[in-house]
Parts: sequence; C-alpha cells; structure tokens
Amino acid sequence: MNPPRTSWSILYRGPLSSCNYDCGYCPFAKTVNTREELRRDSRCLERFTNWVAERPEEIGVLFTPWGEALTHRYYQRALAILSQRNNVRRVAIQTNLSGSLDWVPEADPAKLALWCTFHPKEVKLDLFLRQCQALDRYGIRYSVGMVGTREALPSLAALRQGLLPGVYVWVNAFKDQPDYYSAAEVSYLTQFDPLFPVNNQRHPSQGRPCRTGHTVFSVDGDGAIRRCHFVKEVIGNIYEPGFAAALRPRVCPAATCGCHIGYVHLEELGLAEVFGEGLLERIPARGRT
Ligand code: SF4
Ligand code: SF4
Repeated sequence: MNPPRTSWSILYRGPLSSCNYDCGYCPFAKTVNTREELRRDSRCLERFTNWVAERPEEIGVLFTPWGEALTHRYYQRALAILSQRNNVRRVAIQTNLSGSLDWVPEADPAKLALWCTFHPKEVKLDLFLRQCQALDRYGIRYSVGMVGTREALPSLAALRQGLLPGVYVWVNAFKDQPDYYSAAEVSYLTQFDPLFPVNNQRHPSQGRPCRTGHTVFSVDGDGAIRRCHFVKEVIGNIYEPGFAAALRPRVCPAATCGCHIGYVHLEELGLAEVFGEGLLERIPARGRT
C-alpha cells in the first residue's frame, strides 16, 4: 500500500500592502503601492503559483494579503489557475469582495472558496449582498463576517437576513479594548456566530502542539517559510532544495494565540474537526457549530 500523500496548507502573504478601503480598525499598515511594487507583487505571486502547481504534495492555499488583493487581475488569475490544478485541494482568499467577479467562471467551483468580510462603513449592504448573490449563482463556497465593533453590530442582523441560510456568518471580536463586550452582547453575537466565544479570547498556547510549522505554514513573497503569521522566525525557504526537512511537529513558542487563522491550528481546540474541509475559508463542517 502506498503511504498517504503529504498534505500541506499554506498561508501566502506577498508584498502587497494596499487596499481600496480605509477601515478604522484595519490591523494592517495602509499604504499606496506604486506600479513597481505591484509588479513585484505580481512576479512573486506568479513564482509561488508555478511552484505550487509543480509540487507532488496535495496543497491547500489561503491567501491572507496585507490589504485587498482580489481587486487585482493577477490575483484573480492565480486563483483560477490554482483551482484547476490536480494537486490543489482548495484555494481560498480573504477579501472585502469589492472586486469584479467576472473571472470566477474560469475557476473550478469545487476548489475555489472565498473568505469575505463586510465593512459597513466602506460599502453599502445591498452592493455587498449583490456580490454574494453572484457567488451563489456561480456555486462558490464562501463565508461572510464582520469585525464586531459596537458601531457595526446594528448591521449584523440585516447582513444575516440578506444571505442564504446556509452561508456561515462569523464575527471577529474587537480585542483592542479588554472586556469590550457585555455578557448580553456576547450572547447576542453568539446567536449569529456560535463560534464567537472561541474568537473572543486569546488562547494560552505556549508549549502546546500547533500544526503550524509542520503541515501548515506561511510563505512570503520571497518564499521565506514561517510557521505562522505570528511567529517571526524564518524556518526555511520553499525555493531552496530540501526545505521540507524543516517541517516537523512543533509546540507554540508564543504565550497566547488570538487570531482565527492561527488558533484554528492549535491542536487542543479541536477546530480542525469543527471546520473539516472548510478550514481554510472558515466554513464549519455542516452541523458542527
Ligand atoms: S478592507 Fe481589510 S485590508 Fe482593507 S482597510 Fe479594511 S480591514 Fe484593512
Ligand atoms: S498557536 Fe498561534 S501563535 Fe502559536 S504557533 Fe500556532 S498559530 Fe502560531
């Protein structure tokens, strides 16, 4: 019997650092990229896309840009191309969903998935929902969520109501202020996102097994491998021979882990089972919330 095929999940973040929105709670440095910077981002992405396409491993990719990527044609193209590759099990991206979706028919709907964030101060709800309806027509899997600031909470019910019942709505807890939510607010938000209480905390993680650095890792535009976006140590480079030797079971070196794209890989939380095949695009397996 052949051994099971190695399977990796890769969080890619290239040099892109610009966005067409200007959210007050944005955790990223908002900059304007020059044409040359965008060309470099595009070259990095093409190199990464070609690398993924040629690997023998089964690979899932989540693009976690430091800004908005899906307004750029080269990202749209990369998603469509990767979704068509046999060795790619899933290709997903975090997006504000403001870009054109005319490229989506080029992608394999069984493999493309979107992690969409609604930003109520930046876009009207009906416009955002129209984009979601287009994804429904194309048969694309997607999750939708919001940053749960107090100003945004009134939009949540209308957002939920405007989406198909099967679309998972997540809420990211606003953690800039400690104890931000009252018990009543936590209970209100949990009605929309049963996993809100999991997000509304920083999980103690030091010394605990985490899949990052083994079967999950982050890659930057130059190919540098870090175990996750929160531990800065570089452990290898995908463009150098033998890099896979650095991938092995590890425990977390940080005190806590407070972001979904990190703690979802912390083994003791059991979230791999909760999300199943929808782990990268943040869609829980049916009936698991
Ligand atoms: S859409 Fe995302 S990247 Fe852009 S400003 Fe808002 S939070 Fe930041
Ligand atoms: S628990 Fe979080 S911070 Fe620690 S290694 Fe895993 S993803 Fe990174």
